[in-house]
Amino acid sequence: MTEAAPHARPFPTDAASLVDHARSLDCIHCGLCLTTCPTYQLTGSETSSPRGRIHLMRAVAEEREEPTVEFAEEMDFCLVCRHCESVCPAGVEFGAMMEFTRGKLEETGTRGPLARLVRWIGFRRILPSRAGLKLAVGGLALAQRLGLTRLAPLVAGLRGEVTAALPPVPPRRERRPLPAVTPARGASRGRALVLEGCVMPELFGRVNHAEARLLAAAGFETMSVPKHVCCGALHAHNGELEQARELARSTIERFDAVDDSCPVVLDSAGCGAHMREYGRLLANDPAWAARAEAFGRRVVDMSEVLAAPESLERLASRLRETTSLRGPITWDAPCHLCHGQQVRSQPLALLDALPGVERVALEGAESCCGSAGIYSVLRPSDSLEVLEPKLEALRRSGARTLVTANPGCHQQWQVGVRRAGLDVEVVHLAEALDRALEG
Ligand code: SF4
Ligand code: SF4
Repeated sequence: MTEAAPHARPFPTDAASLVDHARSLDCIHCGLCLTTCPTYQLTGSETSSPRGRIHLMRAVAEEREEPTVEFAEEMDFCLVCRHCESVCPAGVEFGAMMEFTRGKLEETGTRGPLARLVRWIGFRRILPSRAGLKLAVGGLALAQRLGLTRLAPLVAGLRGEVTAALPPVPPRRERRPLPAVTPARGASRGRALVLEGCVMPELFGRVNHAEARLLAAAGFETMSVPKHVCCGALHAHNGELEQARELARSTIERFDAVDDSCPVVLDSAGCGAHMREYGRLLANDPAWAARAEAFGRRVVDMSEVLAAPESLERLASRLRETTSLRGPITWDAPCHLCHGQQVRSQPLALLDALPGVERVALEGAESCCGSAGIYSVLRPSDSLEVLEPKLEALRRSGARTLVTANPGCHQQWQVGVRRAGLDVEVVHLAEALDRALEG
């Protein structure tokens, strides 16, 4: 499995730590990151590039520049896809710097009252609360049943079109929580805790159930974590750092209460990348730093567990040819899996174990699809522009099934494929494997 790097540097907590020599000053201005950056590709402007943003962040942190509305807009334009980190020879920690900067921007109150209210409802009342999520998803289900979402594009333009393309709220049977325990098939190899997540059980519950069945087939007794809802990833990415820290502490507490030593397995790349870095998020909290670091080391992506040799051997013996998966298939790597967690080969090894299915490569598979958490909702136009070259690559690949491993990317591709009129099904890696699983 991919070892999470120990966090030598804590999360930045003040301007001095943002501009210290181990962070932004590491940037040697080589420009290698420029061509990988989706926003630089859209504008060709240095200020919309990683190098340009580092320069701006430092200037504001050193109080040489004001945190103006234009500065906030440039920070919001970034997708925090971290592709720049993957190519940076100096090891600049761009994602941590951006989360810190966004946190500071929240404190300066550059946003208007309506934006602040919407963020408060979303981040404080809906995401961390199962009741809040059920209410929001219930409202969406009702709107879909009454056909109201079809009217959304007329009312809200492009933003409405994206809302209208939200996945149909699945039937109740697909939204049931995971059982407390899913026993291992065959001899048990140990236990795994799974994160059900906030949005996943409501919109992609079938993926969580598929993940539990796959882990069981690979020999793991799989346990869910009662009463846990949100890991705080979306909060951190959007600058709600105090709430992110609170959610990190409660996540660690709830998981440790079930088992404080077994792997914590995720099927959502964005949550996985964030939870692996709990140590950095809580590094300045003496009561939690060591525990958070230890917890982060237990976090693994589902594909890492399933592609390990013994798992793959057990799984492969249970995979059968299926007509429910149309080939050729292709893999699009979520940014927070490849750039955030350095998990690259495992999903491919798993897809190649599917009997009778041809896999074709997707050009630019490690480039951002434009989903980026709630970016696609906040900036639909930019988000779809980022997706455009990837849709062309998908068309060229000839694939009829696109596989991903993150709910935001799943949703983004579904919207894009529909808008482009492509006959391509979008599925999660867990679904693709589960469809071929015997029994
Ligand atoms: S995180 Fe992504 S969008 Fe932001 S600067 Fe880096 S490459 Fe560009
Ligand atoms: S690749 Fe790294 S060192 Fe080079 S300009 Fe970009 S951030 Fe700076």
